[in-house]
Amino acid sequence: MGESNRKRRAHAAVLDGCPWCIYCGGDLPATTVDHVPPIIMFAQRQRPKGLEFGSCEPCNGGTKHADLVAAMLGRSMPDSGTDAGRAEMKSIFSAVNNNIPGLLQEMHIPRELQTAAGWRKQNGGLLRTDGPLVSSHMQTFAFKIGFSLYYELTKKVLPKSGGVVARWFSNVDRLDGTFPQSVFEHLLPPTTLRQGKFEVPDQFEYQWRLAEGDRMAMFLATFRQSFAVLAFAATDRGLLDAETKHAFEICAPGELISILRRETRRADTAMSARTGKK
Ligand SMILES: [Zn+2]
Repeated sequence: MGESNRKRRAHAAVLDGCPWCIYCGGDLPATTVDHVPPIIMFAQRQRPKGLEFGSCEPCNGGTKHADLVAAMLGRSMPDSGTDAGRAEMKSIFSAVNNNIPGLLQEMHIPRELQTAAGWRKQNGGLLRTDGPLVSSHMQTFAFKIGFSLYYELTKKVLPKSGGVVARWFSNVDRLDGTFPQSVFEHLLPPTTLRQGKFEVPDQFEYQWRLAEGDRMAMFLATFRQSFAVLAFAATDRGLLDAETKHAFEICAPGELISILRRETRRADTAMSARTGKK
């Protein structure tokens, strides 16, 4: 069987098991397969099977850039020690540069440091990741973690009445104590993607806890030593309000793309205002 044939069959199998877009509330047919985390997150694109989800084209295609930014950040710590890893990092940088104008500038990564070995030298390894472009893409990625892991755990698409709140934490947040350590007390031990003996705990791990029957779930996903995503998913947005005390935006099913568009627009406006003043 050829590679493309094999891929087509694998996709058909995923869509058979998951015929509805997991991000859209359960009434929009899935036409594509979304990998969460994306294949580019993994060294040499070697990603064990699993965590593959049915998605509509707009949700899958519309969050590709969020996946790209997450892969760029996720692969930053530790640096890849191999030439192949460095070459991959370089191509991720150039994809970010070509597809999301302004993002590398926002992170203050000058061109000469855009290599896997060099980019963390700036500021002793601490990057500026709180700018609006990075934030909006990473927020979208964090929402995806909530939707997808909820499906993984329950085999149910989060319904229209539900929602996800999510936050991502950089390694810097971890160091300075912003990350809520108490979270770990509530979670089951971490697991990772596995295919036979091949597993990737050094690149990606996740933990969860279900609550309120299956109506609510909490997730923690960690990406190398780079960043972590904390997400809550609930079948009723009212449950989330109680849990998060209105501190975070809720992403309802079907809103993934509109939130990213809105935030990217806001970032663009802020950037042109800044450059206009110069
Ligand atoms: Zn969708």
